[in-house]
Amino acid sequence: MGLEEYKGKRNFTTTPEPGGGIRASPHPSRIFVVQEHHASHLHYDMRLESEGVLRSWAVPKGIPEKPGQRHLAVETEDHPLEYAEFEGTIPEGEYGAGEVKIWDSGIFEPLVWEKDKIEVVMKGDRLSGRYVLVRFRRAGEKDWLLIRAKD
Ligand code: MN
Repeated sequence: MGLEEYKGKRNFTTTPEPGGGIRASPHPSRIFVVQEHHASHLHYDMRLESEGVLRSWAVPKGIPEKPGQRHLAVETEDHPLEYAEFEGTIPEGEYGAGEVKIWDSGIFEPLVWEKDKIEVVMKGDRLSGRYVLVRFRRAGEKDWLLIRAKD
């Protein structure tokens, strides 16, 4: 946890992304964002607030929307809370080069928050309902499954 990896991967004199630090939530509930990221491969970055940062997963196939659907979600470095408002183009040559657009944002309610399992109720404009993230160790150390649960 922490933002060292996030900061280490970026050059803030060239990327428009926020530097930021660990800080208190801007909202009484926990915030989330899903960003559509047109990097070398299009993917969706799902970020959930926890302990002053945004825990982050890259979801190549997008957020599952039908109950029972599950998609691979690869955990990436924690991002600063300010990143929830970021949209823009990360320049060529920078980490994650390409356009970033907010696909959805809102708040969520954590039901389970454990090392290997996270269960939340999403309250966004597009996403609503119960989602489960479970570690998928057979696939890889950073791999999780993101499951649209039945409400
Ligand atoms: Mn990304």
